[in-house]
This record gives sequence, structure tokens and C-alpha cells, in this order.
Amino acid sequence: MLSTLRNIVQEVNAARDLHEALGIIVSRVQAAMATEVCSVYLLDPSSNRYILMATEGLYQESVGNVSLGYSEGLVGLVGAREEPINLEDAPSHPRYRYFPETGEERFRSFLGVPIIHRRRMLGVLVVQQRESSRCFDEGEEAFLVTVSAQLASVIAHSEATGAISGLSLTGEATKDICFSGVPGAQGVAIGTGVVVYSTADLDVVPEKPTDDIEQELALFRAAVQTVREDIQRVAKRLSSQLRPEELALFDVYLSMLGDQALPGEVATRIHEGIWAQGALKQVVQQYIRHFEVMDDHYLRERAVDIRDLGRRLLSRLQEGEEKTLEYPERTVLVSEEITPAMLGEVPKGHLVGLVSVKGSSNSHVAILARAMGVPTVMGLVDIPVNQLDGKELIVDGFEGQLFASPSPDLRAFYQEICDEEDELFRGLEALRDKPCETTDGHRVALLVNTGLMTDVARSLSHGAEGIGLYRTEVPFMIKDRFPSEQEQREYYREQLEAFAPNPVTMRTLDIGGDKALTYFPIQEENPFLGWRGIRVTLDHPEIFLVQVRAMLKASEGLNNLQIMLPMISNISEVEESLHLIYRVYHEVREEGYQIHMPKVGVMVEVPGVVYQIRELAERVDFLSVGSNDLTQYLLAVDRNNPRVAQLYHSYHPAVLQALVRVAQDAHSVGKPVGICGELAGDPGGAVLLMAMGYDSLSMNAASLPKVKSVIRNVSREWAMQLLDDVLLLDSPHVIKSCVDLALRNAGFGRYLRPARSSTAALAEQSGNS
Ligand code: PEP
Ligand code: MG
Repeated sequence: MLSTLRNIVQEVNAARDLHEALGIIVSRVQAAMATEVCSVYLLDPSSNRYILMATEGLYQESVGNVSLGYSEGLVGLVGAREEPINLEDAPSHPRYRYFPETGEERFRSFLGVPIIHRRRMLGVLVVQQRESSRCFDEGEEAFLVTVSAQLASVIAHSEATGAISGLSLTGEATKDICFSGVPGAQGVAIGTGVVVYSTADLDVVPEKPTDDIEQELALFRAAVQTVREDIQRVAKRLSSQLRPEELALFDVYLSMLGDQALPGEVATRIHEGIWAQGALKQVVQQYIRHFEVMDDHYLRERAVDIRDLGRRLLSRLQEGEEKTLEYPERTVLVSEEITPAMLGEVPKGHLVGLVSVKGSSNSHVAILARAMGVPTVMGLVDIPVNQLDGKELIVDGFEGQLFASPSPDLRAFYQEICDEEDELFRGLEALRDKPCETTDGHRVALLVNTGLMTDVARSLSHGAEGIGLYRTEVPFMIKDRFPSEQEQREYYREQLEAFAPNPVTMRTLDIGGDKALTYFPIQEENPFLGWRGIRVTLDHPEIFLVQVRAMLKASEGLNNLQIMLPMISNISEVEESLHLIYRVYHEVREEGYQIHMPKVGVMVEVPGVVYQIRELAERVDFLSVGSNDLTQYLLAVDRNNPRVAQLYHSYHPAVLQALVRVAQDAHSVGKPVGICGELAGDPGGAVLLMAMGYDSLSMNAASLPKVKSVIRNVSREWAMQLLDDVLLLDSPHVIKSCVDLALRNAGFGRYLRPARSSTAALAEQSGNS
């Protein structure tokens, strides 16, 4: 059964559209279970009915024409109960419904299993048999459940592909289909999709038409010719080392490149108007599909050769392509996984929105996007990325939703939200030079988190009082080697100078987890619990020492540097780091630099250190809570995984209790404590943190004006009362609602999601996917 299942999944994965995928499912399952009928009914969200989408065994004319209401018939019952129903004599069941147009009366046994993807009911997979004596056994039921579980995501994906082209399940035109992900950075963007993808990966090549068939043909022919020559050259070089039968493989490759073989088929597709890379992808995937399902082991292995050949041709086609990638004036960058380097490629001022399949709201790219003020949706796992190139897109970073090819009504609706947001920011500009002080005189320092130089200009214009977190890994991530001491010194000086005499807190290199350097790869099974932050740099003192030296030299004459250590999980890491910092300090002074010893602080990100705050605080000058990691580790929820995004909650009572304790314990030994996680930039979160006594709140520049405006308009007493109230609650959702309500009542409703309900309502009306 396992190999049957694997073959079905592979074939379905390679299907070109939903109809082909469903056709493969019903015919393969029917054969594998030796049953007379196999059908798929999908739930159409617009009509809320189950539509017969594919069948093997019922009349083909009924496909697309037979449908059942949401709770109608046995299919509806499977859907409502969300579990399999296995009946030996279906017609005698009270919920049985008879459709003469399907020819169904001849069938008696019925086994239906739900198709559920991420808690959403997609449809029902049904097998039927004529003889009443056949009762599908437990093994068959388990097989069908496994098929359905494995295929749910493929079906969701193909369904989404159809929706992007504006087609409903029944092939009718729909509009304003909404794809749901996770909010990455607040705001709304309206622009044109540009799909960026890793090169030499056939699977991610976008589907694009071409209007210059001759040029695509010429490009493709040139690629084939170069790959032929490459293969001949390699064969010649290896001819003395390989046996003749091994060398024969090269002949197989060359024959596959013959005009009548793969290139001929690719050329045909280019003639149909598909660009060369897309045509190559389609043909190679079709070949692979055929080979992979073959029973013969030798032939199955040939799929690997085809894939390799496809990759070689693709990389030849892609040579020089990067230069031709065009970014429209309002670019919405779309990718499987957005990287900081991709952001850097977009010409200044052209980037309006981001869409990433991977990652979640606390992934580092989302944090970067927030810092840049670019509306972002993350974790759009079912979106057919390749279809979004060149499409008009609306990115709703408040709700984590994406709309493709919107109707004029929807566009106008979102344009209004954009205009309101602009107006709100203009209104807040006046606060720039005002202190962040509550109505009863409690002062909190508002700092910014930075990484790129562009953050600095924005931070200054938003009235930041210093940098609470400079993520030094960002300049490391956009290079293709470690930056030299001199290069680092220049980056650091820019930040220090821009804010002097205000403090600039530089965090030592925090790589690992989801922050990778291409030139220093860390491959681990469990990277967030692995070699991260201070663990890496203490194991590589040469990196740490150079970085600290660059920081100290950069601070000469300014003396506003503070150094902060990430991912500390025990006292000895702090002591070792301090030892290295002192050593560099003395060396740099001996070299003649007039520098002061910077303040050194520790990040509280690991739950264990919440219980060692006093011991840590006694050794350093300040503490700063990294609530993004502290939340992920306290709740055991990967901050990067969209599947568990709904469990990641910084308003969780356990997180709030930990935050209260950290502030109390740090103050009990007289040390200041700040926070630099995303919670600080959330108006409600900032109010609670201010009530807990946090001395400074560090956030992305875009959040700063809203937070300042809220804090300046409430009293600490009011905030402390709110904190006391929410600490009695046990649900993160109730706490969030309670805080939101308090903010609304205090007149800050406009800082929460604007017109949330009306957006959702509009999307639903228009046929939410
Ligand atoms: C944090 O973990 O809260 C933090 C500020 O660090 P980063 O988001 O860079 O991991
Ligand atoms: Mg962190």
C-alpha cells in the first residue's frame, strides 16, 4: 500500500490543474482498492455545496452537475461529522440521497472519508461497490483516510491555482478570492506581483506567457547546444577513468537532447506561447512523472537523470537573466522564502509589499519588513506562487490576506485604507520631539530596532531616543563573506554617529535559527535549539573579537556604544563574553584609541534565565528582553512555522507572568531593564510593559509614533489597573480582546486594525477561498 500511495501522491503532485489531479486520484484509488466507484466531492465555498468533481464508475456527465447541500446526503454527513462513514447497505441509511443522473442506484456499499486541510473541510472522497456483501474493511478504510490526508494539501493548492485565474470549482468566473496567511507587517499595499525564485530549481519556475516566441526558441536552442558541449567535454575528460558501460550514460543524456526528444517537446510548448523556462519545466516534470511511477527499478532511477538534465538546461537559460528582471514601480515581491538579499535587489522606492510562503509573523524577514514599513503577508502555504507573477495584488498586512486580480470595488476599498493610514501617520508627526511620558508623569524611553542604514533615517524622523537593538547580523547577511573589521567599523560608525549622544545598543552577531549566512552554513536538525547567537560566537572567538574591536573603534569620540549579548542561557557565557570584551577594550586602548568601556547587557530570551535574573543583572549593566524568542521558547512554538502561528501568543499569561518577574528581579538589584521584542511595538503590549515598569521599549520605527501617542494619553495608574485585570485571566485571546477593548474605550480604536470587520465581510461576500 505504501508504494501505491507514494505513486499516487507523486502523480497528483505533478498534475497541471485541479481536474487532472482529481482525475488521477479517482482512477488510481479505484484500481488500488479494486472497487467499482471512486468519486471526489469538493465543497464549493461560494455556494456551500458539495460538487461532484471527478468520478470513476459513475456517469461522467454527472461531473460538475451533481451537487449536495452542506448537510445533505451521506456526503454531507461525512463532512458534518468530519470522520469516515462506512456502510454495507447505504440505501437503507436515513441520510441516503438518490441521484438518478449518476447511475448510483446500482451501488450499495459506501465508504466516505473527509478531506480536511488545516481544519478546513475541502470535500469528501467516496468509494462504492455494487454487491451488498462487500463491506470495506478496516485496512481499506485506513488506506482511504491516508490517501485523503496526504492529498488534502495538494487539492488545496490546485484549488488555489484555479482561484488565482479567477475560476471557481465549477469553472465559473469568481472575483476577489482571498488567500489567508499570517500578518507579517501591518499596512496595505496595492501593486504588481514579481515572483523571485532560487535559480536552477525547476519546481519554482513561474508560469509565464511570452510574446517573443522566436527569442525564447533561440535562447532554448543555445542552452541545448551548450549543455550538449558540456556533456561531451565531461565524457571526454572521464573516458580514461570510467568503464564503457558507465560512459554509456553520457550517450543516454545526449540522445535525450536530440531534436526529436526532449528539446522537440519543449519547442512545441514554446510555440504555444509559453516562455522557454516554463516550457522546459512542464516537459521535464512530465518525463519525471512517467519514469517515477514505473515499476522497473532501473527505469525509475532514470527520473534522476532527467531532473539533472533539466537543471543543467535551466541554469544555462537563467544565465544573465537576473539582469533582465524588471521591478515595476509598485512591486509586490513574492517568493517561497523571501531573503534580505532579495529585498536589496529591488530598486529604491519600488518595493510596496511582500508575500512569503514560508515563515511566520516573527520570522526575521517579517521583522525586517516591519522595520522598513513594507506591508507583508507570511505563511501563505497554499498559494501557487508561480501564478502571481505580473498579477495585480493587494497585500493586507493587518489581516494576513492576499487578493489577486481584485475587482474595482475591492481595490477602491483598500485604497481608502491606504489613504487613512497615510493620514494617521501625518497626524502623528507632530509628536516627534515630545517626550514619551504618561499623563501622571511616568517617563519611558522609546528606542528603535535597526539593521539597515535606511532604518536610521526613518527612526530619527519618528523621534527615537536611541537604538535599543541594532541587529548586526543584517549587514552580515547581505554580503557573500564575513565583513572585514574595517567594513564593520564603517557600518557601526554610521549607526553610532546618527544617534550620538543617545545610546546605541549593538547586539553581537546572532546567527543560527532562521538567520543563515550563505557563506557560513549551519545545518542542524533543530536549529532554534542548536548553535545560535552567543553559542556560535563563543565557539568562534575570532568572529566575536573582530566584531567587538570594530564596535569599540567605531565608538571613538562618541562614547554612546552599548554591547548586548544574545541567546544567553547561563552565567558562564556572560563571564566568558565579558572577559573577551575587556580584553579587546584594553588592546584597543593600547593601540591608542581614546575609547570608554561600553555598557554591556544581556538579552533575556531563554526561559531558564528568567529564574536567574538577579545573578545575571549583578554582572552586567542592563538587561533587555527579547520577547520574540522568549515567547517561542516558553510556549514551545516555532516562531517561523505558519502551521502553529495561532499558538504563538505574546499575550499568553505565562509570557506576561515571566515579563513581570524579569522586571521586578532586575529592579530589585538596581539594574535597568528594557524590551526589544515585537511586543514593545504593539500599542497594547507597550501599555502593559510600561505598567510592569520596563524602563525602555525598543521597536521598529514604524510603530514608534503610535506607541508614543498611546502612552502620552494614558496614566500609569490606568495601565497598572489594566495589567492587574489581565493578569487574572487565563486565555491569551481573552487578554488580547480585553486590552483592545480598553484601548478602544480610551479612544485608540484607530490604532488597531482599521475597519477589520468590513474588510472581512467584503472578502467573504466576494467569495472567500
Ligand atoms: C527577540 O528574540 O525578541 C529579539 C529581539 O531578537 P530577534 O528577533 O532578532 O531574535
Ligand atoms: Mg532573539
